Amino acid sequence: MTTPLNTLIIGGGLSGLTCGIALAKTGRRVAIVSSSTSSLQLNGGAMELLGSVDGKEVTHPLEAIVSLPPEHPYQKVGVDRCGTLAVEAKQLLADTGIYTTGTVEQNHWRITPLGVTKPAWLSLRGMATSDAPDRLPWKHVTLLNLQGFVDFPIQFVAHNLSQLGCEVTVRDIFVESLCQPRRNASEMRAANLARTLGTGSKLRQLAEAINQSTTNNEVVLLPAIAGLEDDYPVTLLRRLVNAPLHFLATMPPSVPGTRMAMMLRHYFKMLGGTYLAGDTACRAEVAENHITGIYTAKTPDKAQIAKHYVLATGSLMSLGLVATAEGITEPLFELDVDAPIEREQWSHYGLLGDQPFMHFGVRTDATLHGIKDGKSIDNLHVIGSILAGHNPLTMSDSTGVDLLTALAVAHEIIEK
Ligand SMILES: Cc1cc2nc3c(=O)[nH]c(=O)nc-3n(C[C@H](O)[C@H](O)[C@H](O)COP(=O)(O)OP(=O)(O)OC[C@H]3O[C@@H](n4cnc5c(N)ncnc54)[C@H](O)[C@@H]3O)c2cc1C
Repeated sequence: MTTPLNTLIIGGGLSGLTCGIALAKTGRRVAIVSSSTSSLQLNGGAMELLGSVDGKEVTHPLEAIVSLPPEHPYQKVGVDRCGTLAVEAKQLLADTGIYTTGTVEQNHWRITPLGVTKPAWLSLRGMATSDAPDRLPWKHVTLLNLQGFVDFPIQFVAHNLSQLGCEVTVRDIFVESLCQPRRNASEMRAANLARTLGTGSKLRQLAEAINQSTTNNEVVLLPAIAGLEDDYPVTLLRRLVNAPLHFLATMPPSVPGTRMAMMLRHYFKMLGGTYLAGDTACRAEVAENHITGIYTAKTPDKAQIAKHYVLATGSLMSLGLVATAEGITEPLFELDVDAPIEREQWSHYGLLGDQPFMHFGVRTDATLHGIKDGKSIDNLHVIGSILAGHNPLTMSDSTGVDLLTALAVAHEIIEK
């Protein structure tokens, strides 16, 4: 007879996988059901804890967290615990094989795919970063351009980097072994190149081409096109290239983001977790504020039963929330959602401004239990970007919320 599930997690993005790993590490029997790819594949290789409050950039996130409103997920996790949970998150990533630079005490600045700086908490090892928002750590860099590459607006990036007080030389490199994806112009994408490069002769040819077009003492920046499944190709390329080499985030889908997703999933399975990919939780049985079973698209007649359930289905983009004629809803449990009913209030014309829909999310009680018709569901926790009370765009708090709420909920389940 198989042991009953301790926890069923719905959604296998950053938050679901982190919670799953933390639980599986303690021997709990955990399953994750996940419909599709997650937003991690769009992540440029950096994680944010808190980058901005009331329009002001934050340097010391733990100090700024204290001033957040009570509905912010960090307040629910406990302001005093945020530092410890952040350290634990960095360690969990390292256990997974995802090595990062950066500390919880002080933000650094990541470089976006457009070549501008944004505050960050952790950056994947090898990514180009700065310790200040308005300058780069180098006086001169060589920016490498792969002919025909479509995921990197090279002139735009070069211009923006030069605005940060850095002299930028753009150099084209041509690598015979990377010609295969070039047969079709739309195939010169970061993920295709990473797949083609692998760790063998093609990666060595790329290193040789870089060495031939640069000198030893130049700092070289290359779009992040190495290491789709793990970071060995990143380490190897940096070893083979004579000059200091750093990677720049590309337009999504992103190689570092995909790598994180694959490594987390691999580690979760290695710990004994069950990952039900390509399946969707589509119906829930709830009785007296208690979940008794979940039905998925692939098992519509057999309930998945667990002691605890965790909702980690992401926001509007991942269909954790959906916009219907009736309003913004959470489709699986019909949880209470923090969003106005009137459609005109969902967005406004300032395309790049603080869009109202970025605030929408599911309401939770003080311990992150989902709320339905005003009452907490006692065996359902909610984690990650589906939560109300934070704003990834204006506060740069997205991945911090994902990781810290996932760990806080895992601890609560473990202690029960
Ligand atoms: C374009 C873009 C770029 C970003 N770049 C950065 C960055 O550089 N740095 C940073 O810190 N943050 C970044 N973020 C934010 C960060 O990536 C997200 O906060 C994070 O990935 C969200 O994780 P999550 O687990 O909450 O949800 P998601 O990653 O959205 O995962 C939710 C999962 O649940 C699944 N799902 C949904 N409904 C169901 C269902 N009913 N049954 C089963 N499965 C279901 C979905 O298919 C999905 O796989 C970016 C986000 C976007 C959109």
